[in-house]
Amino acid sequence: MAFKNLGLPLVLLDTLTEQNYTAPYPIQVKAIPAILNGEDLLGIAKTGSGKTASYVLPILAQMLKRQKAKNRHVDVLVLVPTRELAMQVQDVFYQFCLHLPDSIKAKAVFGGVSINPQMIGLQNVNILVATPGRLLDLVRSNAVHLTNISTLVLDEADKMLNLGFKDEMNAIFKLLPAKRQNLLFSATLSADLNAINEIILNNPTVVKIEEEKENLDLIHQTGYFVAADQKGPLLRHLIKSKNLQQVLIFTASVYKADNVANKLRKNGIEAEAVHSKKSQGARSNALANFKAGKIRALVATDLLARGIDIEQLPCVINYELPRSPKDYVHRIGRTGRAGNEGLAITLVSDEEKHHFKIIQKKMGRQVEMLEHDL
Ligand code: AMP
Repeated sequence: MAFKNLGLPLVLLDTLTEQNYTAPYPIQVKAIPAILNGEDLLGIAKTGSGKTASYVLPILAQMLKRQKAKNRHVDVLVLVPTRELAMQVQDVFYQFCLHLPDSIKAKAVFGGVSINPQMIGLQNVNILVATPGRLLDLVRSNAVHLTNISTLVLDEADKMLNLGFKDEMNAIFKLLPAKRQNLLFSATLSADLNAINEIILNNPTVVKIEEEKENLDLIHQTGYFVAADQKGPLLRHLIKSKNLQQVLIFTASVYKADNVANKLRKNGIEAEAVHSKKSQGARSNALANFKAGKIRALVATDLLARGIDIEQLPCVINYELPRSPKDYVHRIGRTGRAGNEGLAITLVSDEEKHHFKIIQKKMGRQVEMLEHDL
């Protein structure tokens, strides 16, 4: 399936190409046509599935056809649980608004920062991304009106409920016009969430993206016990001695990802870091260069790794352990795909030994620890 078969306008297809979105993810294949068709949608999908673009793209396509609403009357409301997600979603709107008319204006608002600049900044905004509490404050201050909403999106709705936003969400629903399109995304379904589905969704299209099952049989897992300050030299030694030409390296933090990539470059190994603090353009470029074999090492954090889809990646190195055993399996699952064998190497410092035991126990496999001669 290609993006051009999903019913999106040409201007968005061009932006997709520019941004290196070569093919739609499964959730996008199902959600985009349904949303364009005006249907309500229940999407059961996690971060990393491509869910944001699955609603941002058709919403922007719909906006192109809409009359401009009165000032401070927003057309589209995206409710999110956290400031981080609000900013991420805003970025995806910006990314795809690039070649659209200026009349389509998206903005994120969230609590924890001064409300006044947000009130001023809401002039002429027609797509509002908001956390529930701050949105209600802005409505009470007459900074924004919700009576014209034609599309409501609840993103990470399960997290919104877990964070105790249920009352605020209900208060917001009461302010919306009855006739509107509703899109609800959640990683899981709970009783509370089902109650919300029943209130807001009207005969929805349901899209469920199963979590990928990684096939561990094809992955040769090895590891090294190494002092934390020797990880850098060992990493370089492994890349050079094994002549690794395409290696995905994981770190636990954004800071470390930059740091590891810088050190590799200084030592003559072409490397780029991809993480949430990099612009979408920079991430896409790094990924494209990595896929094309122009850079040897891509250094990533866990969040970004979910979006990385590279067939037949030969080697993954865990420079630092992830927090959850699930993430470990997800990381190493980037290799050993499509029937090809893969290599996963984990560098384990003294402080990480205990956690690595837990990861192996949860995974139900023992990792072969090798000696190194540093
Ligand atoms: P999300 O689940 O919306 O947080 O998206 C996860 C990551 O996948 C983001 O970094 C997106 O930019 C990226 N992404 C989403 N859809 C595609 C696609 N069709 N092709 C390439 N990257 C994508």
